Amino acid sequence: MTRDDIQKIRLFLYNRCMLSSEWPFSNELLVQAIEKEVVQSEPTLVQENGQWKCKRCGNEKQTLFYEHDCYHCQTLCSYCRHCIEMGKASSCTQLLTCNASHFRYKPQENSCRWEGVLSSHQEQASIQLIKAVEQQNQTHLIWAVCGAGKTEILFPMIEKSLQLGMRIGIATPRTDVVKELSPRLKIAFPSIKQSSLYAGSRQKNPLAQLVIATTHQLLRYYHAFDVLIIDEVDAFPYTYDRSLHYASSRAKKPHGTTIFLSATPSKRILNTPSITVTKIPVRFHGKPIPQPRFQWIGNWQRRLSKGSLPPTIHQWLMQHENKPLLLFFPSIEMLKKCSSILQGLSIKHEFVYADAPERHKHVQSFREGRTNLLLTTTILERGVTVENLQVAVIGAEQPIFDEACLVQIAGRVGRKQAFPDGDVVYWHYGVTHSMIKAKRHIRQMNNEGRK
Ligand SMILES: [Zn+2]
Ligand SMILES: [Zn+2]
Repeated sequence: MTRDDIQKIRLFLYNRCMLSSEWPFSNELLVQAIEKEVVQSEPTLVQENGQWKCKRCGNEKQTLFYEHDCYHCQTLCSYCRHCIEMGKASSCTQLLTCNASHFRYKPQENSCRWEGVLSSHQEQASIQLIKAVEQQNQTHLIWAVCGAGKTEILFPMIEKSLQLGMRIGIATPRTDVVKELSPRLKIAFPSIKQSSLYAGSRQKNPLAQLVIATTHQLLRYYHAFDVLIIDEVDAFPYTYDRSLHYASSRAKKPHGTTIFLSATPSKRILNTPSITVTKIPVRFHGKPIPQPRFQWIGNWQRRLSKGSLPPTIHQWLMQHENKPLLLFFPSIEMLKKCSSILQGLSIKHEFVYADAPERHKHVQSFREGRTNLLLTTTILERGVTVENLQVAVIGAEQPIFDEACLVQIAGRVGRKQAFPDGDVVYWHYGVTHSMIKAKRHIRQMNNEGRK
C-alpha cells in the first residue's frame, strides 16, 4: 500500500462511516488498510444474548431485523430494516470507519458575510451559543418561538467555530429544510466549503467544513463534528428519538458540543442531564404570535364525504380570497375529498402530502405566490414562510393534531415584518385538550415576550 493509497482512502473516508459493500477500491486494498489501521472495521450487525443490534443506526428492535437469501454471502443472512434507506446493513457486511478526530481545519477569520442585525433576544442567544462552543462538550437548547429567526442566531457561533478551525454539522429532519437552508448559508459564508446531504443527493465534498444534512444522513459520519446542531429536535416520534441520539453521539466528536433548536421542546429534551437552555419568547420583529381561535363546524367528515363544503369554510375562503391560504387536514383521504369539492366549485388550488407527485413544485409555487390556496397534511407544519399567510386546521380535534403540531401551525402566521398578523383558526367537531394546551402555550410565550 503506497502513501498515495493511504491519502486516497483518507480523503474518501475521513470521519465517515460506510458499509464494506460500499467500499469503492479493491478488496486487497481494504485488507491492507485494515491491517495498517488506516481503516477500522467491525461487524455491522452484532448478536448479544440472541438479540440483534445494528451498529450503524443503533436499532435493537428485533421486529426490524429480517432474514434474506443474501446475494453477497450466498447464505441466509440478516439485515436491518431501520436504516435500509442508507443501503442494506447485513450481517455479512463490515462497518468501516476512519477516525481522524485530530484533523483540524485552517482557522478562518471573518468568514461571515451576513449583514443583518440581530434583535437583543437573538443576540443574547448567540452569545450563549458561542460560550457553549468555546467550552466544548456542552449540550445547549435554544427554545425559540416560531419566527424567532433561529438561523441568524447561529451565524455568530458558526463564524466563531470556523475561526477555531472546527467542523460544523447541521441536521434537520426534512429535505425541504436542507434545500432552503443551504443557499442561505452559502450566501452568509461564501468562502467555506459546504455540503448538503439528503436521500438521493450526491456527496460532492467529503471534506466540507460545513455540512447540512437530513438527520438520517448523520449515520454516515463518525466523530466528525466539533459542533453539531440539531434542528427541530421535537419533530420526531418517540421511537425515532433513540436512534437520533445514537446517530448524533456517533457523528459528533467525543468532546464536541451539541446544540438543539426547538419551538416546542418535549419534557424529555428539557430533562436531558446537564442541558443548558436559552429561551427566546419573541419573534425577531417583536410582535406576538397570532392567537388561534376555535370554531365549531359540526360533523365535517360526513359533510365532505357527501360532497359538500361546510359553509363556514366556504365563507372563510371567500373572505380571504387573494391572500395565501394554507388548509391543514388530518388525513390524505379528507384532503382529496375537499380538493374535488373545490374543483367542482371552480376554486383554484393545489394540494400536497408526503408522497404526492410534484409536491416540491407545488410548495415552491405557493411560496412564490403563484398558487393562493394550498391543501396540506401536517407535512407543512414547519418550514414554510410566506408573507401575509392565513391558516386553518380542518378537524383540529383529530389526534394527529397534538399540542406541538397545533403550535407549529399557528407559528406559520405573521412571520414577516410587513404582515405580523393573520388569522389562525382551528375548525373542530369538539374541543380537545391539545387545542386548549396549544392556545395556552402561545399565550404564555407571548406573555413572557412582553416582559
Ligand atoms: Zn440499522
Ligand atoms: Zn449476506
